[in-house]
Amino acid sequence: MKKELICISCPMSCPLELTIVNGEILSITGNRCKNGEIYARQELTHPQRVVTTTVACRSGLWPRLPVKTIAAVPKDYVTNVVTELHEVEVEAPVLLGQIIIENVANTGIAVIATRSLPHETVKE
Ligand code: SF4
Repeated sequence: MKKELICISCPMSCPLELTIVNGEILSITGNRCKNGEIYARQELTHPQRVVTTTVACRSGLWPRLPVKTIAAVPKDYVTNVVTELHEVEVEAPVLLGQIIIENVANTGIAVIATRSLPHETVKE
């Protein structure tokens, strides 16, 4: 069986073609580097994604704070992660890298701020 994937490990977006027999990957083509092969094997057996989104921010210079998971979470958990983050509201000021949630959606993975967000009284 053939399976086509797009590698999302970098902006090159290489088109990958996997040959799979009895659930085993026999070959992977189309990747320009080893990361493409690693991605394809993981995508087939245990797909994961780093989740990036925003959360509400009270008293901030802007109303939304960009955040991301510090590591990839199992793809099946992405909806739970986004749903939990939808309910979060932080208080400004927030520092780049500050932990927003220690263990999002019981994944054991933290969510951090991907930029600083000053209090609304601070001039840009
Ligand atoms: S195979 Fe390598 S070069 Fe191609 S998208 Fe994946 S990481 Fe980027």
